[in-house]
Amino acid sequence: MSFPGSHGFRIPFTNPIMGEPELQAVQRVMSSGILTNGPETVAFEDEFARVHRVPHAVAMSNGTVALAAMLLGHGIGPGDEVVVPSLTFISTATSVAHVGARPVFAEVDADTLTLDADHAASLVTPRTKAVIAVHYAGQAADMDELRAVTERFGILLLEDAAEAHGALYRGSPVGGLGDGAMFSFTPTKNITTGEGGMVTTHDPEYAHRLRRLRNHGVAGSGSRTAIGFNWRMTEFQAAIGREQLRRLDDIVRHKQVGAARLATLLADADVDFPPRRADRTATFMLLTLRSATRRDAIVAGLVERGIEARVYFPPAHLDPVFAAEKIRLPRTERIADTIFSVPFHARLTDDDLRAMAAEITSLAPRCGRSVQ
Ligand SMILES: *Cc1c(COP(=O)(O)O)cnc(C)c1O
Repeated sequence: MSFPGSHGFRIPFTNPIMGEPELQAVQRVMSSGILTNGPETVAFEDEFARVHRVPHAVAMSNGTVALAAMLLGHGIGPGDEVVVPSLTFISTATSVAHVGARPVFAEVDADTLTLDADHAASLVTPRTKAVIAVHYAGQAADMDELRAVTERFGILLLEDAAEAHGALYRGSPVGGLGDGAMFSFTPTKNITTGEGGMVTTHDPEYAHRLRRLRNHGVAGSGSRTAIGFNWRMTEFQAAIGREQLRRLDDIVRHKQVGAARLATLLADADVDFPPRRADRTATFMLLTLRSATRRDAIVAGLVERGIEARVYFPPAHLDPVFAAEKIRLPRTERIADTIFSVPFHARLTDDDLRAMAAEITSLAPRCGRSVQ
């Protein structure tokens, strides 16, 4: 049998930690007989909310429906516009389209690769209902600047924190920095439940609407008050998620140490780390590098040598599903031609880091330095 994905790579892009605690969590659910909509989901929501210092978290079956729920919970729909950065995973934009609204693509900052607040402001029209800040690779967007923009226009500031579990911005965790935030637990993220999502909020009424959307229009034991969906997380996912959450600090620390080590190991390679900001943590869901001239050759060379590098992310505004709009975002397009992401999962060893650095250095040696 063959599967899509990372098989056959010496260093795969994704390799989540799944151990004895996760196995026991699944067995606990099996023996309980409650497979969905039960106590594990409630406990996971409470524990996730605590880590992100918000009163409410609502679990969803994946990150993409969590995005749709985040928008629908605020009544965003046909006729509305939502400003999103183009340099993101496609579902930041497609979820806006799913609810019938229009994604409006904005530039990102060349250093942080997160939404450019000034450009976002220039795109606001009377139809604009929200701005979605994406915490690219696990480093928070410029939330204070974005908040100033959304307050000026009286619109919502939402967070796509799919990549940023546990990240801090000026001392506060992501997930509570705006009018709603979503997370994903797909296997490329720092913690995973196979598939899974979460919406976090300070607002109890919004949380109630999200619970209703998730469960066929019914929240708790009440009657149906809206047309809803089945966007529930299973108890298996939630039980695994609780164990993964306990690993989050260790995983992030492992990645932060690994990123610093990789920077040292790449001293003789002609690649750059995008600069990071001191007022926020980077949790390295992705480790993105840049090469102004040799990106495609580096990625092809790494893949050929069994290292699953990827071009993350191709700009959404150039994706076939949005390209007909013929939008131009010169800065994003320039950046997108230079970036690539190397495997940076939680089980990466020092040998893996040294192997990657050696291959990158041989594919792109810094001028004037010997490859040996
Ligand atoms: C992963 C991701 C999502 C979507 O999450 P899924 O759980 O895969 O649907 C949304 N936005 C961003 C920025 C992501 O990286």
